[in-house]
Amino acid sequence: MAKVMVFIDGTWLYSNLRTLGEDFQVDYGKLPHVVGNQIAKKLGDKSVDIVRIFMFGSNATNFLDADKEMVKRRRIFYDVLREEYNYEVEVYLVDYRGRRLKRKDRHPDDDFSPEEKCVDIALASSMLYFAALPLAYDIAIVIGGDRDYVPVLQKVRLLGKRTAIASIHGACSFELSEGKNLKGVRDFDVIWLNDLLEEIRMSNEVRDVVCKAPFHIGPNPVKTDEFVRKNRPFYCKECREKMWKQRGDEYDPDDEEGMAEPNDSNEQVRQKESSAPSMAIRTGDSSIGVVKRLMEFCGFIETEAGDFYFGMDDCVGGTEFSKLKPGDRVEFIAARVPRKEFRGREGNGNAEEVSLVLNG
Ligand SMILES: [Zn+2]
Repeated sequence: MAKVMVFIDGTWLYSNLRTLGEDFQVDYGKLPHVVGNQIAKKLGDKSVDIVRIFMFGSNATNFLDADKEMVKRRRIFYDVLREEYNYEVEVYLVDYRGRRLKRKDRHPDDDFSPEEKCVDIALASSMLYFAALPLAYDIAIVIGGDRDYVPVLQKVRLLGKRTAIASIHGACSFELSEGKNLKGVRDFDVIWLNDLLEEIRMSNEVRDVVCKAPFHIGPNPVKTDEFVRKNRPFYCKECREKMWKQRGDEYDPDDEEGMAEPNDSNEQVRQKESSAPSMAIRTGDSSIGVVKRLMEFCGFIETEAGDFYFGMDDCVGGTEFSKLKPGDRVEFIAARVPRKEFRGREGNGNAEEVSLVLNG
């Protein structure tokens, strides 16, 4: 039986799913097996053994709190792949330097573009590593479409392994998909996910699931079409709403998906956080401070938590650097990067950089 490893370019898949249909949702439990079955057919209906599934993806770091839920959702997505489907997940962090994740949410003059690094190299490294490891796999399937994979596919084939590409029409580079396989990148015709939509689609079947909340009212089990994780208790919609109300504004998207336990360690962490001194300012927090001293192109904002450096380019939202005076109250957003060159020379030696001064 041929041993197969599946290597998924998560960044590519994420950004091209929409072309498979609006609101199309992939069943990640089925995807590798559906693609594997296609290879089995091409081999003359021999069965294949999928020995490992890799997902290479990214998530944001150093972003503004307004996007906290988006980042958390992505994190939960990776957790689901690991815990529910036994994927090997490698996540690389993209530094947003104290900004919003979506360009439309950033200042119009901000030409920042996040640098996504490592994902394709990580995929290539793993594929080559296991190709060189005796008996690890016979066939590597790449779910992706980037031409950057040409060299690694060639090298893997030089090691005597077979390669296959599963891709999406319109999102696959010519070098990977062209009929003559002139670059020698694959051993099978490209598998098009567009032809397998019904097999890989997430089906939201309504079924009976037991709500584990002790205060649940009404018939139990309840009917739901929600995704239910295998090692986590399920709480019905009504019970989750009750939990949120009890917790006040501690809204937690984990709960929305019925994934968090009511008295788990997250709760303890949250309590610890809330008892921390209120003067602590975290990256991305919007805070109030007083302009302490001003120089020609920069200044410092004084807060209980220490002084923050800002440059004239950090002033946005109607704040004009030239009109600021020492003693002005300003709202600002803390960025993580400390300005070492100013440390000890100005302020109190604690100065951290500010990403934006919002309101003068
Ligand atoms: Zn319930």
